[in-house]
Amino acid sequence: MQHFDLLVIGAGSGGVRASRIAASLGAKVAVAEERYLGGTCVNVGCVPKKLFVYASHFSDLFSQSRGYGWALSDPQLSWKTLRENKDREIERLNGVYGRLLDNAGVTLLEGHATLLGSKRVMVGDEEVSAERIIIAVGGWPFVPEFPGREHVIDSNDVFYLDELPEEIVIVGGGYIAAEFAGIFNGLGVKTHLVYRRELFLRGFDREIREFMVEQMRAKGVVLHFNADVTSVSVDAAGVRNVTLDNGQQLSAGQVMYATGRRPLLDNLGLESTNVRLTDKGTIDVDDKFETHESGVYAIGDVVGRAELTPVALAEGMALARNLFGEVGQAVNYDLIPTAVFTQPNIATVGLSEEDARERYEQVAVYQSSFKPMQLSLTDSDERCIIKVIVDVASDQVVGCHMAGPEAGEIIQGLAVAMTAGATKADFDRTIGIHPTLAEEFVTLR
Ligand code: FAD
Ligand code: NDP
Repeated sequence: MQHFDLLVIGAGSGGVRASRIAASLGAKVAVAEERYLGGTCVNVGCVPKKLFVYASHFSDLFSQSRGYGWALSDPQLSWKTLRENKDREIERLNGVYGRLLDNAGVTLLEGHATLLGSKRVMVGDEEVSAERIIIAVGGWPFVPEFPGREHVIDSNDVFYLDELPEEIVIVGGGYIAAEFAGIFNGLGVKTHLVYRRELFLRGFDREIREFMVEQMRAKGVVLHFNADVTSVSVDAAGVRNVTLDNGQQLSAGQVMYATGRRPLLDNLGLESTNVRLTDKGTIDVDDKFETHESGVYAIGDVVGRAELTPVALAEGMALARNLFGEVGQAVNYDLIPTAVFTQPNIATVGLSEEDARERYEQVAVYQSSFKPMQLSLTDSDERCIIKVIVDVASDQVVGCHMAGPEAGEIIQGLAVAMTAGATKADFDRTIGIHPTLAEEFVTLR
């Protein structure tokens, strides 16, 4: 039986990072993967999603280019070409991940891993043992029960559609629903978004959420708030008929559910260990990522502290270092920057205005909303909004928010400033780069 210092279950964002770091610190490491190298992010998440976002953005660019003197004759999208090129890029990345593991000296065990206690694991039909085990199995789309559930697709299916529907209904009000509403709308699909509460993107700054309602509606996305699906049926022509609980009926070629993800624990063998789950169904770990079973750890989406690739990477890195050399590594969850790749993009770091007002006695808000310069020669009505939240007592910047072009690229830099403890006075004495949108963050008064 092969024996390892570390066996990682799942070659996704967290698992690959943890196994590579552990191997670089001298450990004998194996990673078990049953599906695809690179996990959700590379195969059915961040990467193909962002490629689709780029594809969808061309429709805006084509129409905006007219104001700059370009004359384009009726550009047409080939979904087949887009899908095939996307698939080819993902295959390339799968190869890159394989070589990364190989070069680091990590053994790849292909197959489904099932724990057989705290130190033994069945991978496919091979039993292996390891001193330590990291569970990095990620999550899977969750679709609630309702009549007609079998007629809907989820975020795994959406990347492999044979053809684009003419009309789509997207259910959910989080990251995936908002991003795919933008993607489909940009690709020319009539898009409905159905969300059960009064305003989508719960958890983001309220003003940014309200701003996005206007922007998405202006681009043609039909937003149905305070509405949920009661049933979906399909007719002989394949049309999905969707009944909402407000009595409305929608018809579409596809219905996509984006109603959250759940840890992927099927046949993982947790019952053979003392690993416990939280009441959210995620794996319960302490501040060193150790489960209730000594020597068994968990990181990434299966722990669910923040279901984002950079968080899984940071957890994988901190844990591997703690286990094999550099003790005392911790992950800073206080200031996690994040972006939603809608049109326009949203990005944020720190507290929303609402949360800041709850936490601090006195809060100052600096903000501006304007038409981005790149749209000045176009007939686009798209605007952007930027917002800085300051704790008055300390002058510390506690939140930066933006909806506008390249918001993620801009907020990433501000996240560094905030991590370093920047005050509003620091923002004010920073010299801008002109003419950019980002300079507005250092000229807000
Ligand atoms: P995963 O990447 O899910 O990897 C888990 C791996 O474990 C998988 O490869 C799986 O096949 C394997 N596995 C599971 N069970 C077993 C088993 N028993 N045996 C063997 N192998 C097993 N995050 C961002 O930061 N930015 C984005 O733009 C972004 N976009 C996203 C878009 C979509 C549509 C989705 C779904 C997610 C997106 N995310 C994004 C989230 C990001 O993909 C996840 O947070 C990240 O992939 C989590 O990494 P992980 O290592 O925890 O798990
Ligand atoms: P989210 O948790 O972001 O959103 C789920 C949405 O579904 C919420 O609006 C929720 O409503 C709604 N919902 C949940 N259950 C039901 C139900 N039974 N019926 C109707 N609506 C329901 O999950 P996503 O699936 O959008 O994405 C999963 C995670 O992946 C994200 O949280 C994010 O961490 C990550 N991700 C990150 C991206 C990025 O970084 N750009 C992009 C895509 C995903 P309510 O608000 O009422 O709870």
